[in-house]
Parts: sequence; C-alpha cells; structure tokens
Amino acid sequence: LKLQLIKVEKLKAVEQMGAAISHEIRNPLTAASGFVQLLNDDYLPRHKRREYLSIVKDELQSAERVIQDYLTFAKPSLASIEELNVKNELKQIINIVTPMANQNSVEIITDFSVIGFIKGDRQRFRQCFINILKNAVEAMPNGGQLYIETNFSQDYVTICIKDTGIGMTSEQLERLGEPYYSTKGKNGTGLGMMVVYSIVRAMHGLIKVESELDAGTTFHIKFPTITLIQKSEN
Ligand code: ADP
Ligand code: MG
Repeated sequence: LKLQLIKVEKLKAVEQMGAAISHEIRNPLTAASGFVQLLNDDYLPRHKRREYLSIVKDELQSAERVIQDYLTFAKPSLASIEELNVKNELKQIINIVTPMANQNSVEIITDFSVIGFIKGDRQRFRQCFINILKNAVEAMPNGGQLYIETNFSQDYVTICIKDTGIGMTSEQLERLGEPYYSTKGKNGTGLGMMVVYSIVRAMHGLIKVESELDAGTTFHIKFPTITLIQKSEN
C-alpha cells in the first residue's frame, strides 16, 4: 500500500510539473506570437521590424530556458543571479504586456521616480511580473487603469501594481497562490500566482495584497535592495 501511495505521489508530481511547464511557456509564446502578428505588416518601418524580431527571439529563448530549467532540475532560486535595475526590467516587461493591455482597453500608468537595484534571476523576475500583470489585465475585461510604481528605500525596493478590476473577496484572497486555484474556468490554470510566490520567496522578497470586490487589487512586492556605488541612471 505504501509503495502504491508513493507511485501516486510521483505521478501527481509529474502531472503538476507538466502543468507548470506549459503555463510558464505559454507566457513567452503568447508574447512571441503577438509580435509575429505585428510583423505581418508590409508597411512596418525597418527599425520596428528589427525591434520586434529581437523581442520574438528573446521570448523564444526564454521559453527554451524554462524547459531547460525543468529538464535539468536546476535549482529555481540559483539559476543565474544578476544585479537587476528594477526600472529597466519593468520597462521591458511592460513592453511585453502592452499589446495585451491595448486589446483590453487597459491604460498603463507608470511612476518610476526612483531607481533601485536588486539581486535576482532576470528570467524569473520577468516571469513573476508578467504573471501578475496578466492577471491584472484579465481582471479588467471592460478596460481600466493599471498603475505600476516603484519605491526605493535603503533596505527595500517596493513595486506596486494596482488595477481597477473586479477585485477579490477575502475568501479568494486567502486562496491566492494555491496550486490550481483559478476562477477563470477553462481560461485559467491557477499556476500563475503559485509561480509568483515561489519566485518572490526565492528572491527573499515579500508580497502583500489588498483587494476590494468591484474596486480593484493592489500588489506590493518588496525585495531587499543592494547597495551599489556610483550607479547612475541611464
Ligand atoms: P489563473 O490566472 O490561471 O486563473 P493565477 O494563479 O494567475 O491563475 O491566479 C489565480 C486566481 O487569482 C485567478 O483565477 C483570480 O481569481 C485571482 N486573481 C489573481 N490576480 C487577480 C487580480 N489582479 N484581480 C482579481 N483577481 C485576481
Ligand atoms: Mg494568471
């Protein structure tokens, strides 16, 4: 009986991993196919064409990296730690989700008044914020505002993401991040937030979520600041 149970557990783990992989790969593939669509315009200026092609290449590479992570069972927390300029990273992430926001009449409003540097894996940082931003856009089916702000103190870089969407009940809020918890039926996997929590934890960060039904949701994500000497803004 014990052996059989172990087998069932193993099968479950394999199933979960399969679901997680497909979820994490879907983001970069969705972004890539969005830009391929944009490339299908005969009048696109050459510099735009070049820019979009490079985004497509990046996104395909990022999908490949996700697969590699899983295949090699690489430790998620220690994949490749770099200094990340939060503002620059967020700008790139916003570029990726902008087509999706436009499609949903969601206006993106940013306030990156201060710069901050954190330590982390670039690919995972992206994955984390794409998941949060995708959820925010999906929470505003009739359009709305998506505010993205950064704050910087000696100890922490705080990233605030606020939407004016459908919000969550306290019961929903409590279940956020639970594997397979989704209110989107066939359109959801319930793995996005699980991945978000695990990435933030691996980067020694903290997440606070506030939500009000029919008013919106705000995520506050805090990461330890790294102190850099003579880093200037570009
Ligand atoms: P999925 O998006 O596939 O449903 P997630 O793990 O990304 O799975 O999110 C889980 C659930 O959390 C969503 O189905 C939704 O109910 C809720 N949720 C997440 N972010 C938001 C948000 N910004 N506004 C309202 N609900 C949200
Ligand atoms: Mg999601």
